[in-house]
Amino acid sequence: MITINEHYLKLQASYLFSDIAKRVATFQKNNPEQDIIKLGIGDVTKGLTPASIKAFHSAVDEMAEDTTFRGYGPEQGYDFLREAIAINDFQSRGADISADEIFVSDGAKCDTGNIQELFSQDIKIAIPDPVYPVYLDTNVMAGRTGTFDDGKYQGLVYLDSTKDNNFVPSLPSENVDLIYLCFPNNPTGSTISKADLKTWVDYAREHKALILFDAAYEAFIRDESLPKSIYEIEGAKEVAIEFRSFSKSAGFTGTRCAYTVVPKECAAYDSAGTKHLLHGLWNRRHCTKFNGVSYPVQRAAEAVYSAEGKTQTKALIDYYMENSAVVCKTMDKLGYDYVGGKNSPYIWIDGQMDSWQFFDMLLNKAGVVCTPGAGFGKCGNGYIRISAFNSHDKVREAMDRLTNALTD
Ligand SMILES: *Cc1c(COP(=O)(O)O)cnc(C)c1O
Repeated sequence: MITINEHYLKLQASYLFSDIAKRVATFQKNNPEQDIIKLGIGDVTKGLTPASIKAFHSAVDEMAEDTTFRGYGPEQGYDFLREAIAINDFQSRGADISADEIFVSDGAKCDTGNIQELFSQDIKIAIPDPVYPVYLDTNVMAGRTGTFDDGKYQGLVYLDSTKDNNFVPSLPSENVDLIYLCFPNNPTGSTISKADLKTWVDYAREHKALILFDAAYEAFIRDESLPKSIYEIEGAKEVAIEFRSFSKSAGFTGTRCAYTVVPKECAAYDSAGTKHLLHGLWNRRHCTKFNGVSYPVQRAAEAVYSAEGKTQTKALIDYYMENSAVVCKTMDKLGYDYVGGKNSPYIWIDGQMDSWQFFDMLLNKAGVVCTPGAGFGKCGNGYIRISAFNSHDKVREAMDRLTNALTD
């Protein structure tokens, strides 16, 4: 008899985006004239840069000729891309990361989800609340939690991100072995200072713990004092794995390219307490289960680091950050408390009422769709997330409508 992995039965069905879609469809049916502006979903809206498209095209042409055709490439990514990443994203910021510590992949979602299979079943895991759901659900699937009770899974240590800690969780009071951190954060848009990030690195070193640092939104950092990489913090290379993606930084959500950094000194332990390097383990997993990102996509990603690619990619991010600024200005004027938006495409707003109530009010009174914070965890209730991924015109109009709706 074929039996299932019963841990899957503990998963909470994610109704968030289907609930949103249902409410929007009902509203549209009752108000066919109203045009709806979506500031809800975490997907980019602008096309790839000309530099990436040009590289993409010419790599496709290379695939057509027997002499330039490429079959299977190195699972970890082509050297041309790994070297461009190491130099531009790390060495240029004083973080001593080399090309062979970079593992190119088809997404940070897969990598943040897959990484947990390197660790034993009985580790203690600290997960932020609110959270990008992948970290949580993949550990539930692996059987590292108990059941879901009262908005939380048993057996996990939740790192609450609230107004009290300015949406940067404090160190846990109990010992944990694996820590998920994401800055700039999705969904809150909050950032972490070098000093605060150092307290986590020091904690991990002291407790022989490991930090999984998701930096998918580093490209949106404007404040030069903030760390873009955890490896800007002394001692992090022994205790941290970092995840990056071209999805939000260069518009690759539909193109698919990301990477994971596993420094060579980064270690974990077996049950006898013997130290093992994670670089070798991740390399083994990656080569066994993954066959590399397609050649044209890696060329398109490499072009992000060319001189014109850098200028164009910066303009792409600047475009979205102008939207963030418009949203922040509107919230300042309306007197709503919020975090994010300054170094992030997300603005996390205290709606001063239940998340779904605020969502319905914005939809009904302004025809604007946001994301209810409650969908990201218990601490998200009372908040909504507004995303900067849309056109200038739509965001300005949404903010005008929202201002009218909230001040009448
Ligand atoms: C969008 C996003 C990613 C990127 O995922 P990809 O699979 O690379 O598209 C990673 N982490 C967070 C928190 C995100 O919001």
